[in-house]
Amino acid sequence: MYDVIYKNARIPQGDETVVTNILVKDEKISGFSTDIQGVEAKEIIDLEGHLTLPGCFDSHVHFMDPGFTHRENFLTGTSSAAAGGLTMVMDMPCCSKPSVRAVDNLESKLNAIKDKAIVDYAMWGGVTGEDVREGWLHNVQEQADYGVCAFKCYMTPSVPTYPKVTDPEMLEAFRAVAKTGLPVGIHAENFDMCDYYTKKFEKEGRMDAPAWAEARMALAEKAAIELGISFAEDTGARLHIVHMSTGIGAKLIGEAKKRGVDVSAEATPHYLTLNYQDAMTERGAFAKIAPPLRTKKDNEELWEGINNGSVDFIGTDHAPYEIATEKDFEGANIWNTFPGIPGVETMVPILVSEGYNKGRITLSKLVEILSTNAAKMYGLYPKKGALQIGSDADLTVVDLDHEWTVDEQDTYSMAKYNPLHGMKLKGKPVKTVVRGKVVFDINHGIVGEEGYGNFVRRQSIQKLDNNIKYPFVEKE
Ligand SMILES: [Zn+2]
Repeated sequence: MYDVIYKNARIPQGDETVVTNILVKDEKISGFSTDIQGVEAKEIIDLEGHLTLPGCFDSHVHFMDPGFTHRENFLTGTSSAAAGGLTMVMDMPCCSKPSVRAVDNLESKLNAIKDKAIVDYAMWGGVTGEDVREGWLHNVQEQADYGVCAFKCYMTPSVPTYPKVTDPEMLEAFRAVAKTGLPVGIHAENFDMCDYYTKKFEKEGRMDAPAWAEARMALAEKAAIELGISFAEDTGARLHIVHMSTGIGAKLIGEAKKRGVDVSAEATPHYLTLNYQDAMTERGAFAKIAPPLRTKKDNEELWEGINNGSVDFIGTDHAPYEIATEKDFEGANIWNTFPGIPGVETMVPILVSEGYNKGRITLSKLVEILSTNAAKMYGLYPKKGALQIGSDADLTVVDLDHEWTVDEQDTYSMAKYNPLHGMKLKGKPVKTVVRGKVVFDINHGIVGEEGYGNFVRRQSIQKLDNNIKYPFVEKE
């Protein structure tokens, strides 16, 4: 007797699909069968032949809970994720009070959010310049032992409770994290360059929104990634470039991979689809993020990076701010507003619509970048990221033909702004299934219970294949 059968699921097999029935027992996939006549289950749910992906996973979110819940909380954040077809998220260590840099901080955060989550969640650990200066690096191994999946370092300041690293502090952090075998994700922008040019442009009276992107130039990301690669080569740390925004970044990562350096990178839906001139001119602070949006050429080079294996998977950097006090307040300008945008609800739709449906990426690549690769990278595979017997029954069910328009008001996130607003897309998640239970249905909205989502500890140390498919060819 099964708990539930998901019938007529169209599942990927390489770049092809097959229609089958997924048998679920005790929250796990317990079999696949093309013939379910006589098979007993408490419930049968018809997926109507829709594309059914292994549960999609956003490994880069800032849900702001506890401490900044005027922006987002774990209920609204995970509801938005579920509505976007995500079965799991991985929350960053910086945007909570206290920030997560030790096991006791992590436990107080887990306590604060445990009754709120709709989908499953894993955790980033933290290491800052202050941890290096104060001799607190023993916290790194302790967080790893507790089950965090990776560590985050900021080369530029983010929130006051999470100090950035200087270059030598980053080297010390890499050495400490290398011993754990876990990846270290860096926010890769050269601080001195960003700081100098933002102050210079502001002093010169530039108040146009694109000035933000021009001040935090692509070269600042390039220089930061180059330093990160050097440190990774020297220390053996597994370097991960979060929210990589530039084509040159993809090229550097591709070249380092070819040399055998253990590096990886993530692209975000907005760096694949938006450019700073159009989006910032039109939306101002509502398109302000760090690193900033880049150019159409960068968009195309990041898609190319996905295809040639330089870019490993997608994360959103979902980081909402309160409109009235942080984005559009009295006296707001492009320099003093907060950088950050929501993203979890549109990640899967953007990659399905602009990637797969437009022929930019294959089906097998879609599965890799939305689900499998991040699960492997963070030591969660095949519990997560796989349609296999024994895996958690996490499913993202997508109607590939559903045409719709992104509406920033129509979201479960507290952030009712989105620079993707108005974008016409084809393809939308219609059901999100976490460990066998439907938590979102397009006709009924969120149907999962608050607190159903579990904290998922890192299962093992895993490495990504160096999946460079062909040599990186420099474009003329
Ligand atoms: Zn982030």
